[in-house]
Amino acid sequence: MKILVTNDDGIFARGLWILVKELTRIAQVVVVAPDREQSAIGTAVTLHQPLRVQKVRPEVPEVETYSVEGTPADSVILALGTLVKSKIDMVISGINQGPNLGYDVLISGTVGAALQGYLRGLSALAISVDAVDSPHLDNAAKLATLLAKKVNSNNLSTNIFLNVNLPNLPLAKIRGIKVTRLASAGYAGTVEEGYDGRRKYYWLVHQKANKDADKKTDIWAIAQDNISITPLRTNLLSKSSSIIMNSLCSDLLRELQEY
Ligand code: MN
Repeated sequence: MKILVTNDDGIFARGLWILVKELTRIAQVVVVAPDREQSAIGTAVTLHQPLRVQKVRPEVPEVETYSVEGTPADSVILALGTLVKSKIDMVISGINQGPNLGYDVLISGTVGAALQGYLRGLSALAISVDAVDSPHLDNAAKLATLLAKKVNSNNLSTNIFLNVNLPNLPLAKIRGIKVTRLASAGYAGTVEEGYDGRRKYYWLVHQKANKDADKKTDIWAIAQDNISITPLRTNLLSKSSSIIMNSLCSDLLRELQEY
């Protein structure tokens, strides 16, 4: 098995190398990751400037490693498109330092990178720990390794895309593993205003939102000291409201022509 590892915390992040070290026990690993921190860059790709890539010395011996002056998604696209010549079986993104839950998967660079693998037909895993400076990254690395092994050996009929989050706890304190859906909440972005002596400035600030107490969600699972595994898909189509859509759109072309 050959696994592509990437992240959004940058190629020097501790979480990435703890993951790589563990994965080398079961697979051949290639690392292609951004040269700097890119958290919250989501699915962004770089279209208006050239992408520079550098082969760098790995922190785990004999792991082919490339640093990309681009986004997490760029890194995966480059890896699968040209940098890695042999077949990749799976993409793993992380270990992110900080949670990726609920609506935040839409802005997560960790998930955005895994998405590119999934869109190219590979199974993909985004893995995060619920703390910016967690001492428990090794649990996440072991879990990713187990999941990779299972996904590889189960001969799945289709590729899967999993968003995995671990509570910031030692293994003995983790209560269970829950298969969840995304909460209808996130770390709500609020605005703080300040003055630096010359000009006004704004900070977008993350605030923990606990709106969604629904027991099947990822936010609930983590709040209750469980590991959360959410299967994701890419079809954003909403099933609801054909009545609303009809009332919005039925005369729209005529109205546009008469505008
Ligand atoms: Mn990050």
